[in-house]
Amino acid sequence: MAAMSNVRSHDDTWDIATSVGSTAVMVAAARAKETDSPNPLIRDPYARLLVAGAGTGMWENFLDDSMQERISGADPQAAAVFANMLSYQAVRTHFFDSFFTAAVAGGIRQVVILASGLDSRAYRLAWPEGTVVFEIDQPKVLEYKSATLAEHGAVPTADRREVAIDLRQDWPAALRAAGFDPARPTAWLAEGLLMYLPAEAQDRLFEQITELSAPGSRVSAEAVRHTAEEQRARMRERWEKMSDDLGIERTVDIADLTYNDPERADVTEWLNGHGWSATGTVSTDEMQRLDRWIEITDEDYQGGFSTFVVAERN
Ligand code: SAM
Repeated sequence: MAAMSNVRSHDDTWDIATSVGSTAVMVAAARAKETDSPNPLIRDPYARLLVAGAGTGMWENFLDDSMQERISGADPQAAAVFANMLSYQAVRTHFFDSFFTAAVAGGIRQVVILASGLDSRAYRLAWPEGTVVFEIDQPKVLEYKSATLAEHGAVPTADRREVAIDLRQDWPAALRAAGFDPARPTAWLAEGLLMYLPAEAQDRLFEQITELSAPGSRVSAEAVRHTAEEQRARMRERWEKMSDDLGIERTVDIADLTYNDPERADVTEWLNGHGWSATGTVSTDEMQRLDRWIEITDEDYQGGFSTFVVAERN
């Protein structure tokens, strides 16, 4: 039996400020921080206002300009990890923005963003005329995003359609009901999602994507691997000590929300075995390529955060 958190259950729900919903605010905060930095790798003009409307939470630490320095004072290795964590979000956004740019350049006009959270690509990317972008997430998350952006006069740059459903339910039916056409090639994205699904739910998700993907479709995903429990415990201890030293209140521990499932399939391998041609890019390599990686001596942090997978349907 996998050692997993007891915080989650198979049918749990959340809003933007709680449980898995709050992770959407954290990554949006990292995008806001990057957008406001001197040489931003990506620009997300909506991230800051989406974070601002979500109330108070752990994400405020990301926006706090003094944080980096304060962590450096307490633990220089942890400071490097913190800087890498923020850079990772920028590099990840950059990678999947490029995925979509290439997909539409290749003629794809149907896009599905799974677990879209506070992703603002449907509002900020230059989609060609006639592109339909479906966003799937839990109802309260989608509701919060569209209401907040509408309040600020933001208008989608594509035909944006919300599919408010949990991905553990019959989302393909809901997607079709929203106008999705399985006969057209589709570009799919699973970013910041797979770690919140148990192994079998991840397999099921890719089976469903495969069933709905016409030839020429593309899929991209942020794939995570299993981390030894002892390593997770050491990393958790390190963060707990650091946040105690700095007086940071810990309202949520992301590790409690994720499924560190030893049975989880390697996404690149899975796709290559199920009708796709897939390649994986280790996140650390991509971060180094973009000159956004700080070397860390601590072995627990050597493995990188994830693998960015891109595949095309055979
Ligand atoms: N993809 C977005 C991004 O990168 O900005 C959001 C990532 S956020 C870390 C995780 C998102 O996954 C949240 O918006 C959450 O609501 C969504 N999510 C996780 N599990 C889900 C599920 N079973 N069904 C629908 N949405 C889910």
